[in-house]
Parts: sequence; structure tokens; C-alpha cells
Amino acid sequence: MQNLTCPIDQTILAESKTSGEISSKCSECEGVWLTFDALVSLEDRAASEDMVKGQRQYGKHAVDHLCPHCGEQMTRFRYRGYNLEIEACPSDAGFWLDKSEDREIRDVMKRRTANLSRSASAQRSWHQAKRGTRPGVFQRIKEMLGFR
Ligand SMILES: [Zn+2]
Ligand SMILES: [Zn+2]
Repeated sequence: MQNLTCPIDQTILAESKTSGEISSKCSECEGVWLTFDALVSLEDRAASEDMVKGQRQYGKHAVDHLCPHCGEQMTRFRYRGYNLEIEACPSDAGFWLDKSEDREIRDVMKRRTANLSRSASAQRSWHQAKRGTRPGVFQRIKEMLGFR
């Protein structure tokens, strides 16, 4: 495995786990690097097929941090409209989360799972309202990452 360095303090990242997914963690600032695949797996476990996934990145802007993977300048954005900002590799290799962001994304995932199980009927009508107007999950993930 390639040595990744922290975009904040250049510490070599160590292999870690975020909600069961392999990630790379900085021992200094406790930021976490998640690959694209790891984030997708997290979402797959948190959400059902029908859930709206892959919403666009909101409020995108470039930041001074360099991607641990390719060394290019990363882009900061709001994750799916939640009040959670994360940074992304410009070629979509993965995502960088600050310490607090790492915790927040797990909270977001937990809340989503709780909401899903809370009311099956509400879920059904919600899905019915959305069905037909939304492209498939993989299409939406591609969209989120700017692929066509
Ligand atoms: Zn760090
Ligand atoms: Zn990169």
C-alpha cells in the first residue's frame, strides 16, 4: 500500500477503520482519508437501494489542501446538503474528513438508518413520490462525482 500523507500536517497516514470500512487516519490531527469505494460502501450499508443517493455536491470550492492520493488541490463541498463539509480529490480517488467531520458523517449515516426503519409506510409513500423522477443509485453517484 502506498504511503499517504495528511493534507493538513503531512504526517504519514496509518490504516484505520471508519464504520467498518478501511480508511487512512492521521495520528496527529485525527483526520481521515476515505477512498471513493469506502464511502460508497458506507452509504450502501446506511441506505436502501431506493434512497436518494448521489445528490450533487453543494457549495464546491477549492482549498489549499493537497490530495494525499494524487497531490492535486482538493475541493471542499457540503455533503449531500447536510451541514457537513468534506474535501474531495479532484479525480475522485477519495475524500478527506477532519476529525469532527469523521464523527459527523457517522452520525449522518446513523440518522439515515434510524429514519429508514422508523416508518415503513412513510418510507413507501416517500419512495412512490420519488420513483420515476430519480435515476438509479449508480447514476446518481456518478453524477455526484461529476461523471457523465
Ligand atoms: Zn493530520
Ligand atoms: Zn487525488
